[in-house]
Formats: sequence, structure tokens, C-alpha cells
Amino acid sequence: MKLRPHHLLCIQKYTGKGYDAPFAANMEKIIRRLQADPGQLIQLVEGRDDVCAACPHMVDGRCASEEKVNRMDRGVLSACARSYGQADSWRALADAAGKRIFQTKKSEEICGDCQWIELCRATREGWIDGKEE
Ligand code: SF4
Repeated sequence: MKLRPHHLLCIQKYTGKGYDAPFAANMEKIIRRLQADPGQLIQLVEGRDDVCAACPHMVDGRCASEEKVNRMDRGVLSACARSYGQADSWRALADAAGKRIFQTKKSEEICGDCQWIELCRATREGWIDGKEE
């Protein structure tokens, strides 16, 4: 599976609210796959990923908010000491994002201006192995 780095956060906090029905259906499919096999390899990619694939904000292969989401992606890579192109298990990547970003509240710095931030603040810490942390 390919994920852009900031989606390590969005996936852990997802509560069923998405941009539209196809987006939500795709997100739920991705989450079921990760919960069924937390050891599966995730490649960290720059730009469009498996979540973006069903997003209505994808225009000509590019996110309508590309600059903003690229900044979030770089923030996640830096906080988790990772680089684009690297691959690791979902468990390891989600754990790093949870410990280094959610638990330190670095999320406020990385994605405090995201439209979903209030929902994230009100949501449980996140999940990694198919259960809530
Ligand atoms: S296209 Fe943009 S808004 Fe849509 S999932 Fe990807 S990064 Fe998020």
C-alpha cells in the first residue's frame, strides 16, 4: 500500500467522516486491510496515494490543496525520522506517528490548520493493531 505521510495520522483518527461516499468507502476499505494485517508494508510516497485515489479533491493527479498537504507530509516525515520512498510496516509507522506526533501534540504544529482538526482533537488517540490505543 502507498500512503502519503500525513495519512498515517488521518487513518488513525478516522471516524467515518469523509469528503463524500466514495471517499469514505475507500477509506474504510483501507482501514479494514490495515486492521486485518498491521504488519503489511507501507511505502511513504510524495503526492497521490491510495487514499487520494478516491478523493474528489484530486484534480489531474494532484491534490487541490497540494502545497498545504505537502507541508503536512514533510512535517510527519521529519517528526518520524523517515523519508519519501521508505517502506515499513503499518504497525511501525503508525506507532511512530502516534508516539512522536499525537502524544507530543506536535499535530497542532503539523496540521493545526487542517479543516478536520477539531474532529481529530475530539477523537481517541488512534489505533494501530485494529484496536483503539
Ligand atoms: S487528494 Fe488531497 S484532500 Fe484528498 S485525500 Fe489526498 S491529500 Fe487529502
